Amino acid sequence: MERGGTGWLDQAACRDEDPELFFPVSEMGPGARQVAQAKAVCAQCPVQQQCLSYALENGLQYGIFGGTTERERRNQTRRASGRPQGTQAA
Ligand code: SF4
Repeated sequence: MERGGTGWLDQAACRDEDPELFFPVSEMGPGARQVAQAKAVCAQCPVQQQCLSYALENGLQYGIFGGTTERERRNQTRRASGRPQGTQAA
């Protein structure tokens, strides 16, 4: 498999899904069900790790990638950088 590219998208479990499912308006309220549905698709995806790495490496801010929401990816990035939650980079 190539590294750094997007050839893995050919194996994406979301290829035949409505793309809007992966871009919920909110994680709360009605959007919570949409998030759960999108995550269920990701859970079955053979390229979930590549997708998550791509989203983290490219700073994708919106949408569900690799089974994570934007908030979860932000938290992951903060933890990796050693910054406590709720703080901003200077
Ligand atoms: S992990 Fe989710 S968003 Fe990423 S390619 Fe797979 S199904 Fe699509």
